[in-house]
Amino acid sequence: PLPVVAIVGRPNVGKSTLVNRIIGRREAVVEDVPGVTRDRVAYDANWRGRRFTVVDTGGWDPDATGMNLRIAEQAQVAVQLADVILFVVDATVGATDADEIVGSVLRQSGKPVILAANKVDNQQLELEASGLWALGLGEPYPVSALHGRSSGDLLDIVLDAL
Ligand code: GDP
Ligand code: MG
Repeated sequence: PLPVVAIVGRPNVGKSTLVNRIIGRREAVVEDVPGVTRDRVAYDANWRGRRFTVVDTGGWDPDATGMNLRIAEQAQVAVQLADVILFVVDATVGATDADEIVGSVLRQSGKPVILAANKVDNQQLELEASGLWALGLGEPYPVSALHGRSSGDLLDIVLDAL
């Protein structure tokens, strides 16, 4: 079996956009409406000749009560199936309560976690990413899933952790 990279994060941070960037196709459904990825979906990926499986997670209903619990559960499932976790946060919003819940689940997992500070579409936004050190998951890597800014560098780091 191929090594598994799980993409984790609260709705609307750009997980599916990043998955499409990684696989080089537009298969993961991207929506302006949060919570569109209903189930975990696995894709084959290849970076610099190394094959791996990338799993897009989601599946909670943002309108449901107990959303934070659902997010925590989803993070637990991702942790169990992953060899490396790619935790995506929206750098333009900063760390929310939901991000902190996911972050604490991931910290306790003992698995390697790479923190992607997404939506850093230009250099001016890079400063916002540094606020994500507060999540206690090490260095936040600024990236723009939408424009592909620094996404290759991010993949190098993810593959190094495999
Ligand atoms: P998910 O719910 O975490 O899977 O998020 P999606 O991938 O569906 O993206 C949610 C919204 O954020 C969509 O409108 C995307 O176009 C937008 N988005 C994703 N990545 C970026 C990015 O790097 N920059 C900007 N500006 N928008 C992004
Ligand atoms: Mg999605």
